[in-house]
Amino acid sequence: MSAEKLAYNWNFDDQAAGPSINPMENATAANAAMQQVLVNSTGPAPAPPLPSGSQVPLPVGIEINGTLMRDAEIRELTGADEEKLSKVSRSSVRFFDTLLKLGVVSLGNEPVTPALLKGLYVADRDALMLAIRIATFGPQLELVGVSCPTCRELVDFTVDLSTVELRGLPAGETRVELRDGRWAYLRFPTGEDQEHILAAVDATSAETNTALLERCVTYIESPAAGIRVPGSADVARRLGIADRRTILMYLADHAPGPQLMSLSTEHEACGEEVPLPLTVADIFLDL
Ligand SMILES: [Zn+2]
Repeated sequence: MSAEKLAYNWNFDDQAAGPSINPMENATAANAAMQQVLVNSTGPAPAPPLPSGSQVPLPVGIEINGTLMRDAEIRELTGADEEKLSKVSRSSVRFFDTLLKLGVVSLGNEPVTPALLKGLYVADRDALMLAIRIATFGPQLELVGVSCPTCRELVDFTVDLSTVELRGLPAGETRVELRDGRWAYLRFPTGEDQEHILAAVDATSAETNTALLERCVTYIESPAAGIRVPGSADVARRLGIADRRTILMYLADHAPGPQLMSLSTEHEACGEEVPLPLTVADIFLDL
């Protein structure tokens, strides 16, 4: 893996302006933290790829014909796949759609279809992409020249992607209390929601948040009045700014799927933890 290969086709300005891959993350803070890591990343170390064709557990699962499918079969990407991916802009959602269409063989016992992939939770899509990455390039991701936030030394780290925590849905009701005592009932986004949320390329983060809340607030309940109002773009816009942030924080903090954003490792020289937040986009930098 040469540094020059990594430099190709990776423009931070585009990335910052374009849609973020995970709508749940705090894009500004996460990107700032990540860029430091990524500017000098040399991509994954050579490692023997896992045998092609492997079963992957899904953190959430998808119901197909009344049966909850909790696993999927994925395969290693080939040169033919690489050619197909090279024709799609990697800053677009389509890049990841294409990646899943190529790398996912089946969901449960069902052969995969584009509609099924869109119906998956983002959590499961991310888990599948992580598995495809490991099957294709191995589990090691090398991060070179990371600045330790405590002692400022530049350090190289190797992340083992096979140890990333896969979190399921939170137990109990997915809801948060609003400032006036109402409850917002929430659900986590699917691939279809993600497509909707990231459709407007020039959207501001407030507009993106509205699109997210439109999809992920299922209804707002006023217990005293016994009223339930279904979520909509209008409902999302009428929420107070503080309530919107409470909901977004809940969705970010409890998001199921691979916990790439919370990766960290100890810097041995100073003994302090170094955060190494990653997105799904970062684990495919070598493609
Ligand atoms: Zn340090």
